[in-house]
Parts: sequence; C-alpha cells; structure tokens
Amino acid sequence: MSILDGLNEEQRMAAETLDGPVLILAGAGSGKTRTITYRVAHMIKEKNISPYDILAVTFTNKAAKEMRERVESLVGEDSGKIQISTFHAFGVKLLRIYGKHVGYDSNFNIYDSDDQKRVIKSILKKLNMDNDGLKPSAILSKISKLKEEGIFPLEYEKMAIDYYSKKILSIYIEYQKALKENNAFDFSDILVYTNELLNNKEILEKLQNRYKYIMVDEYQDTNKTQYNIITKIAAKNKNLCVVGDEDQSIYGFRGADIRNILNFEKDYKDATVIKLEKNYRSTNIILSTANALIKNNETSRGKNLWTDREGGELISVYEAETAGEEAYHVSNEIKKIVDVVGGYKNIAILYRTNAQSRLFEESFIKAKIPYKIFGGVQFYQRKEIKDIISYLNVVNNTADNFSIRRIINVPSRGIGEKTIKRLEEYREDMNVPLFYAIKNVDNISTITPKARIALKKLYSIFEDLINLSKEETVTDLIDTLLERTKILDTFKLNNEDERVKNIYELRNGIQELEKENGYIGLGDYLENIALSANTDNMDESDDYVKLMTVHNSKGLEFPVIFMVGAEEELFPSLRENTEEELEEERRLCYVAVTRAKDRLYITYSRTRATFGNSSFMRVPSRFIGEMPEKNLNNEKVYMNSNGYKNDSTKVASELNAKIEKNKKKKKKFKGDYAVGDYVIHKKFGEGKVKGIDINRVDIYFPGHGDKKFPTKIASKFLS
Ligand code: ATP
Ligand code: MG
Repeated sequence: MSILDGLNEEQRMAAETLDGPVLILAGAGSGKTRTITYRVAHMIKEKNISPYDILAVTFTNKAAKEMRERVESLVGEDSGKIQISTFHAFGVKLLRIYGKHVGYDSNFNIYDSDDQKRVIKSILKKLNMDNDGLKPSAILSKISKLKEEGIFPLEYEKMAIDYYSKKILSIYIEYQKALKENNAFDFSDILVYTNELLNNKEILEKLQNRYKYIMVDEYQDTNKTQYNIITKIAAKNKNLCVVGDEDQSIYGFRGADIRNILNFEKDYKDATVIKLEKNYRSTNIILSTANALIKNNETSRGKNLWTDREGGELISVYEAETAGEEAYHVSNEIKKIVDVVGGYKNIAILYRTNAQSRLFEESFIKAKIPYKIFGGVQFYQRKEIKDIISYLNVVNNTADNFSIRRIINVPSRGIGEKTIKRLEEYREDMNVPLFYAIKNVDNISTITPKARIALKKLYSIFEDLINLSKEETVTDLIDTLLERTKILDTFKLNNEDERVKNIYELRNGIQELEKENGYIGLGDYLENIALSANTDNMDESDDYVKLMTVHNSKGLEFPVIFMVGAEEELFPSLRENTEEELEEERRLCYVAVTRAKDRLYITYSRTRATFGNSSFMRVPSRFIGEMPEKNLNNEKVYMNSNGYKNDSTKVASELNAKIEKNKKKKKKFKGDYAVGDYVIHKKFGEGKVKGIDINRVDIYFPGHGDKKFPTKIASKFLS
C-alpha cells in the first residue's frame, strides 16, 4: 500500500519523479492539484524528505489550506512545517525576516487599494497635479501593471516619453518613496521586494539550500515577478514541479504571462513533461461542452480530456425576460433540486462581475435560501472597520503616517485642518513620522491649547495600546481601543447600528481566531487580514449556496453550477475589444463550465438595467452558441430583439451576420432600430446602438464615447 495508490499511472509518474524539473500540463479536473498534494505526502511519508525542505505555492489561501489539510490526512501528522502558501504569504514571510535588506522594518504594514488611493491623492497634491484630471484609480492600475511586468521607475524613465507617461513616472517615483517612508508595502510590492531580496547572494543561497523541492499550482497565471522568484530559488537544485492549464489562464489583465508555462520546456531542457487526460470531475456532457467551447480559441492547443462518467444531465439554458426574473428562476430551480443534490452547500452561482450578486441576494432572501457572497465590497473595506484597522496599523507600525491621518480625528476630537497642517509642517521640517510630531506637540507653538490637549490624549491612547500589544491578545486590544476612543458612542448617537454591528463582528472574528490558534501577535493578525482573499472563509460544512465571480472560482469544484448573466457585453464583457481579450473571456467561460461536477445551468436575460436605471436589450452570449446543441436543454426558444426565433447554436453567428449586414447598410436612423445597428450622427459620425429602452437610446461613437438620446428627439439628432 502506498499513498500513490490514489493516483492513476500518469499522475503517479509525476508524483514519483522528484529529481529534476517536472511539468504537468493538463486540462481542468484532471487531478493536477491532487497530484501535487499526493506528491508532497509521498515525499514526507515514503521518501523521508523533511517537510522543512518543501515549498508548495498555490493561488489562494483557501487552496493552501485545503492542500495542507489533505497532506495532513494522508501523512497522519502535523504538516505545519511544510511551507504551503500563496506567493504573497510566502513573500511576507521572507520580508519579515530579511526586510531590512531592502529597506523595510519587520513590522511593516500592508496597504489595500483604499490606502493606496490615499497615498496617490497626497502625492497629486504634493506635486500640484490634483487638478490635472488624473484619476487615482487609473494611476494605480497603471503603476501596478508596470510592477507586475517588472518595470520599475528606473526602467520606466527610459520608456516614458509622452506627456502622460512622464506624469505617471513622477507619481510612480514619489509613490514608491512614500510607501517606504511609511514602512508599508502594497500588494505588488510584496512580490517585487521579495524578488529583489533574492538578488542578495547570501539570502538566495540560504533559501536555495532550504527549499530543495518546489511545487507551483496554477502556474499559467504567474506573472513575471513570481516567475523570477521561483526560477531563482529553484536554480540550484532544479527540483521544480509546476502544474497548470494554458486554457485556464485568466489573469492576463493583471500581468499574468501564459508564456511562463509554455516556455517551461525551453527553460529546463531536461524537463519531464506529463499530460493528464482523464477528467475525474465532470460528466461527459459537461466535459464535451467545455472541450467544444475552448476549441474556438486559436491559441488553444486542443484537449483530449475524457471521462468515464458517460452521459449526464443536459445543460439547462434559460432565457429570462429581466435580470430580476433570471434570479427568480435560479431560486426556483434551487428549491426544486436542493434535496436531490445533497443540500445548498453543493450549489454555486458564478457571475462575471460582482455587481450581479445583488439581485440573487434579494431573490434568495425572499425564497429563504441560505447563501453567502464571496467578494464584492469586502467586510474589511467598510469605513468603520478600516478605521479600527488603521488604529491597529499605527500600533503595529508608528511610521505609518497614512493610517494616522485617517483616524487622527476619528471619532471627532476637535483636531481640524489647521492643526493637521502644522503637524505636517513639523513632520517635514524635522523629518520624523507624524506619530512623533504628535508626541512632541509641546514643541509646536502654533498649535492651539485646545488641539494640543486633544493630541496629547490621542497620544496617550496610542501609548497604552502599544504597551498592551506586547502582551495582551488582539481582542483585549480592541476592547481597550473601543473603550478609550468611544468610537461606538458616536455611531450609536447617529443611529448607525449597522456600523456598531460590524465592529462587533470584527471583534468576534478575532476572538474566534484566537480560540482556534491560541495567542496571535498583532502583526500576524494584520497580515492575516491583509492577505485574506475573497474565498478564504468558505466553510464547506455550512449549508449555504455560494455566490462568487468566475475568477474567484478558480481551482474549485461544485456538484451544481449556475453560470448566470451569459450575455454579450457582460460575458464576454464589454472590456473585450481585441481578439486576445476575447480569448481570455472564453478561457474564463471554460473555467466556469469546468467547475461543475454533475449539473450545469446557464441563464441570461433579454433586458438588464446597466447604466443607471435604464433597461437595455440584451443578446445571449456567443459562448452559448459555441456549445454543442445536443448537450443543451433549452427551456425557452431564443428570440432576438426582432422577434426572430432560432436555436442556440445559431444565435452567435446570426447575430454577427446581422451586425455585418448593418455595417454595410449603414442604416439611417428613423426610430426603427435595434441593438447592434449602425447609425450616423451629424456631429459624432458613425455609431453603434448599444441599448434601447422606452425613453432613451444609448449609442457608442468611437472617439466620443457613449451618448444617450431621448427616444422622442433621437431622430432629430440622428440622420
Ligand atoms: P483544475 O484545473 O480545475 O484546477 P485539477 O486538474 O487541479 O483541476 P483536481 O482538482 O486535482 O483537478 O481534481 C479534480 C477532481 O478529481 C477532484 O475531486 C479530485 O479528487 C478527483 N481526482 C483526480 N484524480 C483522481 C484519481 N486518480 N482518482 C480519484 N479521483 C481523482
Ligand atoms: Mg487545480
């Protein structure tokens, strides 16, 4: 009896080949994750390899936790010593130890997107650019894209030649400086600095000697920095096993580079390459649908996945009149099948964008269906929660000026703009953190006696909290924080019950964590929050329906999947306008379909409120049209906006043909139009009708953007 008896021949081969590079390139549900999990267990239990020598990297914390539990159950002992973590958690761990080599203290904070925006805003102000019309979110996404591609200010300087890029460059430089000054990392920087750390020969050698065996799951979604980190650490022993599926690469928009996996054989000439072709997850109906879909991608190399789960339920396709009815239909179906499929926990709703969750939530509440949403506006992003976390951030790292600024007058304690300005001036003159400016308030003569008292009081709260944090639990810390700041009183006074409830929920969460793990240091707690991803707290044992984006569903599987909102311009999304992006959308659809084990439902609606309140005509996703008709069970006959009836496989091609025809005709606008029609406007030129409702027409004009016209007078504008 061997642990590897739980694997098939190819999987076993991959798990037994421990020396040298190994690549497992295989489709969804073929057991890639299972193979590396068993590989780890086999190494420890049957090859006497010390858990300490192994590094396994997964995509989410949830995947890491699952892998750890699985290994433990196979090995029968505590696998706490094996490093199974996400790239970010691994990076944070290294930076806590070696951070000073890249200019950071070990008690650094981690900034989320909200914190990052504050940093950018302060820089725009400092550089007198706050009236330049630059959006902080746009600047940030540009900067993080640069980082993910491994382009740092120095390199960017050579590329930034136009006006806009030069502005970005100057912000980028200041931004990096600001983060360092505040002893804080943003998400991308965790990886960037981890990679930089490895340029230190001594540190690199230490890590190379420690991590003799390295495994990476979901390798197709690694970016350049992650690739560099792994390549450097693995360079000495070359015992690197990566697994992935090029058809599931869905993070291109965030800098993931599919070439990392495709070039593996070039990077490691002696690599053992293993293909897994048996799918253990899905019925043949689901699998053959996924295979047919992905064939439409020119970049796909085709799949020979097979399953011995012959047949299976047909895929149910449902067309709703409205997005609300779509949610209602899903509720009804869930009620019908819940007992047969073994409970709510076996059902997941997958959508393209977080905003779609609201209607399902409403409908589930009415139908009394237990559910949980993963992602969206996250708990830790709420204002009151961020305020508490900011206090804790300061306690953890007094260099964090941005966290201090956030709460210096929360709750209101009479510290106004003027006082803050004077503190900032002192901070700049003396070149000290804001925290020390507050401490030394007696030396700032321009601050009024009243503000001085308030600042001293605030400082003494911090002083107490810092002392407490050295020995007390985080729960105690929060209790003292609440008591001393009287934050809850303000909320209660303003009848903000929801906020009070949320703060208690935060406290309960900490308490539970402490119950489970014993004492947790403040730094570890903050790190835990900062790195927690959307799907982390998914508890399999609780019986509720799970709602999440397709991106968040990566690597997971459920007996029943509802893929909702399968409409053009939603899935594939509107973002897509190049062939490359369309292929990424198709891979995303492939991921959605392949999450299903037994049953797959696809729904879409003929109308959907998108911009504000208007309800726009929708057309079914071309991806439905690409699925084999014989696998689909159409609950309704498709009808397009002209009342034309056709079947599912023709929808996409009919639609495209119609658009082509319209393009040629350059139809004049007479109030007789449909979505997808081309019209001509005197001023804006040629445009395409995107949506129509009773009183408005939404038209896209290249170079001018979206324009809305009241239907009644539209014909006067358009000819
Ligand atoms: P994805 O590409 O979606 O990440 P994957 O290739 O990682 O999929 P796994 O999640 O490892 O696939 O496996 C899919 C399912 O098939 C799991 O439930 C797993 O336990 C099961 N499975 C895989 N291999 C075997 C096997 N040899 N025997 C029994 N079950 C297996
Ligand atoms: Mg997997």
